[in-house]
Amino acid sequence: MIIATNVNKQFGKLKALDNVSARCNKGECIALIGPNGSGKTTLIKCILGMVVCDSGFITFNDKNILHDWTYRSQIGYMPQIGRYPDNMTIGQVLSMMKDIRKQNKGLDEELIESFGLQQMFDKRMRTLSGGTRQKVSACLAFMFNPDVLILDEPTAGLDPVSTETLKEKINSEKQKGKLIMITSHILSELDELVTQVIFMQDGKICFHQPIETLKEQTGEQKLSKAIARVMGKQQL
Ligand code: ADP
Ligand code: MG
Repeated sequence: MIIATNVNKQFGKLKALDNVSARCNKGECIALIGPNGSGKTTLIKCILGMVVCDSGFITFNDKNILHDWTYRSQIGYMPQIGRYPDNMTIGQVLSMMKDIRKQNKGLDEELIESFGLQQMFDKRMRTLSGGTRQKVSACLAFMFNPDVLILDEPTAGLDPVSTETLKEKINSEKQKGKLIMITSHILSELDELVTQVIFMQDGKICFHQPIETLKEQTGEQKLSKAIARVMGKQQL
């Protein structure tokens, strides 16, 4: 569905992406893991077309994304930090997005309901806590029923109950056969969701493996422990 081939991106002297190749297929829930600054967000932004790679290419359903922007309507994106017009209310932001996407039917407003966001529709964006802002971002990512969900640190700032709500939502969309890419520092949160792991370091993909293989190879059941073991071995 999404294929990156030899993607390079440099910011000044810094190689943010160093010859990255990856295949991401429908029905997978891929955890994008790696230390701060390893290039996770840059890779996501390249897939979204928000960052243009220096060399290499990315295809979405076999079409080079450089030549056709329409693929973006099939992606729901939850940014690491959502930025919204300060003076607009939650309700206004949501209806503005419906206007921009020109879609008012077949909307998925389940998360608005489960987060209880309707009660806050009149609150202005600038007055929101980080967690509530995250909830708005999550609602927008799922609202247009996209085939692909790209979630950058989706649970950062969310309280435990909302985190669970969001995880349930991610799981139910996964069951529908969508592709989900998710980054998180909290590996324990990914345990029940993930089918594959891409581990990045210094702009390179260290490994891309199904979770079963990772567990078999390491003898660990928990993602955090399995990753620690793989990384430990590589350093020896
Ligand atoms: P991660 O999401 O894994 O924490 P990023 O992809 O955000 O990492 O960043 C990778 C590296 O690229 C970091 O060193 C970061 O400082 C740098 N970087 C990212 N975006 C820019 C930019 N627009 N200009 C300059 N450097 C950037
Ligand atoms: Mg990031």
